[in-house]
Amino acid sequence: MMREQSDVIVCGGGLAGLTLAYQLRKENPEASVTVVERTTRPLPEACHKVGESSVELGSHYFGEVLGLKDYLQAEHLKKNGLRFLCGDSRGPVAERPEIGPAEFPIVPSYQLDRGKLENDLRAFCEELGVELLEGEHVRAIRLGKDGAPHEVETSAGTLKGRWVVDASGRRRMLSKQLGLRRPSPNASSAAWFRVAERVLLNELVPEGERLWHQRDIDGNRWLSTVHLMGRGYWVWLIPLSTGYTSVGIVADAEHHPFGTFNKPEKALAWLREHEPVLAERLEGRELEDFRLMHDYSYLTERMISADRWACVGEAAAFVDPLYSLGSDFLGMSNCYAARCIGDDLRGTLEADVVEALNETWVRVAEDAARTLSGNGEVFPHGDIFGAKLWWDFFNYWSFMCAHFFQEIWREDAATLRRFLGMQARYYALNSHAQAILEAWGALKPTPFGGRKRFIGLPSFPSTLADQHLSLQEDLDVEGTWAKMESDLAIGQQLVAEILAHALRDLGPETAAELGRRAGLDASWGLPLAGERIDADALPRRQRIEKLPRIARDMERALGRVDPGVPLSELLARALGTGAEAGAEAEARA
Ligand SMILES: Cc1cc2nc3c(=O)[nH]c(=O)nc-3n(C[C@H](O)[C@H](O)[C@H](O)COP(=O)(O)OP(=O)(O)OC[C@H]3O[C@@H](n4cnc5c(N)ncnc54)[C@H](O)[C@@H]3O)c2cc1C
Repeated sequence: MMREQSDVIVCGGGLAGLTLAYQLRKENPEASVTVVERTTRPLPEACHKVGESSVELGSHYFGEVLGLKDYLQAEHLKKNGLRFLCGDSRGPVAERPEIGPAEFPIVPSYQLDRGKLENDLRAFCEELGVELLEGEHVRAIRLGKDGAPHEVETSAGTLKGRWVVDASGRRRMLSKQLGLRRPSPNASSAAWFRVAERVLLNELVPEGERLWHQRDIDGNRWLSTVHLMGRGYWVWLIPLSTGYTSVGIVADAEHHPFGTFNKPEKALAWLREHEPVLAERLEGRELEDFRLMHDYSYLTERMISADRWACVGEAAAFVDPLYSLGSDFLGMSNCYAARCIGDDLRGTLEADVVEALNETWVRVAEDAARTLSGNGEVFPHGDIFGAKLWWDFFNYWSFMCAHFFQEIWREDAATLRRFLGMQARYYALNSHAQAILEAWGALKPTPFGGRKRFIGLPSFPSTLADQHLSLQEDLDVEGTWAKMESDLAIGQQLVAEILAHALRDLGPETAAELGRRAGLDASWGLPLAGERIDADALPRRQRIEKLPRIARDMERALGRVDPGVPLSELLARALGTGAEAGAEAEARA
């Protein structure tokens, strides 16, 4: 018999809906939770849904918050981080700058087989007492006012719930009803498919390239999510536990019209043109489960409301697949919803908490959209993209992951607001970093920069590696705050070093244009002045000793170009304050 009234009705039993239902029952054993899902088991393994690669935050959610670590390690593939190959996509793979982990990352993440995972999650939910209505459609959601229960009209009848959660993925039932969608600056599309065999990165490089193969110390390169980067696009290769490989093309509309890869034969032709080595490896293979998503990115105005509703997973927003953040946003939305629902069921829910969590989530998504859009000119350059990865991962581990891992989202409204202030400071710094990187990419004179080299992500030992390992620390609120403060100061140095790398790489003729394009301003307060600038003019050995640690780490990882002009001069030109810049401005006037 179907229950007519539940504490929580979850509309949609995909990854977000199932994990939320599981979490709710785990954290609130008294709560009645109903999931309405239109599909029935068995879901096809290997060829189910897109979204197989997870990174630290999402993995922490599945493994630690939900307690599924043993299951994930036994039934899915432990992942060897993210691996990127930039450079000449039409040339030999061994010649392309490679950026990725040198060894298996200590903080775990997984390659998820989505069909298998969702089959298993349905069973786990049932074991925990979730009511799972499979093969039933949600037709309408009517929100109750003034504490009245919400009504969910389904193919099985009308259900009442104190809370209603939209987990219908891109159907976005509530978001459409309430007009919550906000446009994303990211105009990209994707096509993906699976092949019924392992397609290994190592197979794309001849065995004779011994040094390249020897870099794969543990033989684990294939367990990475591989990204083949080119102008305005990237291609993913994800191994799955069922022996399949997921392959996807992601491209921005500016460089690659959707119509050039939106059919299996066109996608193969597109690969032959842009990634010929991979295309040759795929020749003659059947492309199973070919799927498309045009203009996939969207943001939202609201993820959760004190009026007892929430949108989780893709029903809220989806930014971009580049760093596999889909499960991260899903985990964050689920935790914020589970926290508010739990508080409400205990009679302790505060509207201020809901608002602060909502703002945190919406802003994290906006910040990610800033990070993940406008990179078309950055992707092919190993040096620029390498610098971007240094900053993006430092930023990700320092704020977004720390906020989640240290469970700041369980704190009171005042603490959540305080951390929103910190988030705004990270956001501002991120905007500056992305502006410099975009300008650098746009002004780079060569088609693809970066020498044939390996860049550790993170490289050991380094500030970035410390940052990654610090995810394992257990900090209280004040400890987390103090760490974020100190990380922000290091982050400012890191962004200043990116500016220094860009200026040296582009040289004196382009410095002023870099400054103009990036909107560089002394008010950014980047610590590229005083001792740091003086250190740059010292003889080599003394210079190295005087540089901040992050500068040394980045030069070791990314290399250093010497344009023969002091950094102080390049910076003055970029800021429009140098003698030559002044003369230029006068001449223009
Ligand atoms: C190109 C691309 C690549 C991606 N790659 C990654 C990646 O590598 N890693 C990652 O973490 N994320 C990735 N994502 C995001 C990933 O797809 C999402 O994180 C995840 O699938 C979202 O899960 P969900 O439960 O919100 O939505 P879904 O998995 O779509 O689940 C929604 C569920 O709702 C059900 N439903 C819909 N309407 C109704 C209805 N009316 N009644 C009943 N049931 C209904 C559906 O049947 C479905 O089961 C990618 C996304 C894209 C577009």
